Amino acid sequence: MPISGQCFTSSHESNRTKINQIIILGAGISGLSAAWKFSENNYKVEIIEAHSDIGGLAGTFKQGPYRLDYGPHSFHTENKEILGAVLGLFDHQLKPRPRVSKFYYNGKLLDYPITAQNVLLNMGLRSGFMAVMSYLNGKFVNGRRFIYKKELTVEEWAKSNYGEYLYKTFFKPYTEQFWKIPCHELSIQSIPAHTRLSFSRTLRALFLNKVLSLKGSVVDRELLPTYYPETGYGEISGRIYKHIKENVNLHLNSHVVSVSQCANGRMRVLYQCLGEIRSAEGDYVVSTMPITNLISTITPSPPQAILDASHHLGFRALIILGMITRKQNVLKCQYLYMLHRPYNRIYEMNMFSPKTSPEQENIVAVEIPCKVDSQIWQSSKEEIFNMCIGSLKKDGILSFEEVTDTMLLKAPHAYPIYYKNYDRYLSTIKDYLKGFKSLAILGRSGEYLYMDIDKCMARAFNLVDTFCAHKQSFSEIT
Ligand SMILES: Cc1cc2nc3c(=O)[nH]c(=O)nc-3n(C[C@H](O)[C@H](O)[C@H](O)COP(=O)(O)OP(=O)(O)OC[C@H]3O[C@@H](n4cnc5c(N)ncnc54)[C@H](O)[C@@H]3O)c2cc1C
Repeated sequence: MPISGQCFTSSHESNRTKINQIIILGAGISGLSAAWKFSENNYKVEIIEAHSDIGGLAGTFKQGPYRLDYGPHSFHTENKEILGAVLGLFDHQLKPRPRVSKFYYNGKLLDYPITAQNVLLNMGLRSGFMAVMSYLNGKFVNGRRFIYKKELTVEEWAKSNYGEYLYKTFFKPYTEQFWKIPCHELSIQSIPAHTRLSFSRTLRALFLNKVLSLKGSVVDRELLPTYYPETGYGEISGRIYKHIKENVNLHLNSHVVSVSQCANGRMRVLYQCLGEIRSAEGDYVVSTMPITNLISTITPSPPQAILDASHHLGFRALIILGMITRKQNVLKCQYLYMLHRPYNRIYEMNMFSPKTSPEQENIVAVEIPCKVDSQIWQSSKEEIFNMCIGSLKKDGILSFEEVTDTMLLKAPHAYPIYYKNYDRYLSTIKDYLKGFKSLAILGRSGEYLYMDIDKCMARAFNLVDTFCAHKQSFSEIT
């Protein structure tokens, strides 16, 4: 991998004749997956990536022998083509492993996402009784007023599905701690599993099946086999790149600053590399960079209405502090959700793969969602460590003396924020972008679509397949 700070370009020309040049903005999983398909179809591909490494949010940060992901990641999918593609990168040697996450609540470890078993069996009879009564009240009395409402807020959805008690006990504190936005201002789309989460389904499974098996859990996707590469999640991106590198030009440390359409219809991209502005021209551009950043780089500047719509979209940033320790089996699960702490989730890298640290060492990491204009975003590694270590010690997780070193990651565009009515503004922007026949958007922040890597890959494959099959402009197929 290239040395950070250098403008690295890998350039390979294969013997095959290349047709049409595609410029891909961003070397995260979406950009790499699109490059994979385009290069298979014999297109000449350039990738321009701002960072010093590939992988984006699905990358793995390397500090000496230590490997830290951008939050707890594992691969799971119900899509057979994508499963085959990813496992194929590993010669089908990756083995599924259980994914264990917990919710730390009132000194107890509950399953996450919450299930009826949690509430009824782990939290005691009183809580169980309260939850059921509140659920019935929400579903059959209060919740009925939302039946015909098209776009619910998190508050409306949680109260009508789970009732007031569970809303106040779990959903409100956790959601607001995470998003830093009141539940009544957030669209229900902020909870990706909301269509699959249902207290009533869980209750039915619990009482009708009369078994306390995992089958009673509500989130089917959580039960899919999960895979994790030995040396970190970023190995998936690394292997995609290895597979295609003879056919693509990758520019790292290259920050896109302008995207424009030339008079001849070709696309022009300007990017900054080591303080120098460079340019690339191609027949088509696929952007996976955050949609708001794309709007601000389009030259000439889009109409004011589009710039205004873009200001209604935003991202929740994420700070990750990795703490290197010799302590093992710290959490007894891969990741743990916590309330009323400076962080909202803790994860343990050895529970994903012990090869992410040297033998007998481990990395325990905390995730801190925040705003990029907040004070904490500007804080140093030491300040963030000092802010977290007190609660970690109090909870018996790690003490100051048990940490030998730290690692810090900052992801400014980790989560698209689904404000109430965000989709109106997003549609305005997408309609405007359709006017560019040679420009397509893809990816989690590129499309402003909350998704895991399997969906990112599927959307990238689908876009390129459709494009190649019909040789249409992007605006007709996206
Ligand atoms: C905490 C967390 C946990 C997650 N857990 C899972 C999980 O368990 N399983 C799973 O499948 N998915 C998980 N995901 C989701 C997954 O990480 C993303 O869906 C996926 O990585 C998004 O890939 P992408 O290529 O669309 O976007 P990104 O990874 O964001 O890639 C965009 C790329 O564009 C680059 N870029 C941005 N601006 C510019 C610019 N101006 N010029 C050039 N380049 C630019 C960025 O540097 C980046 O590399 C998780 C996400 C988070 C945040």
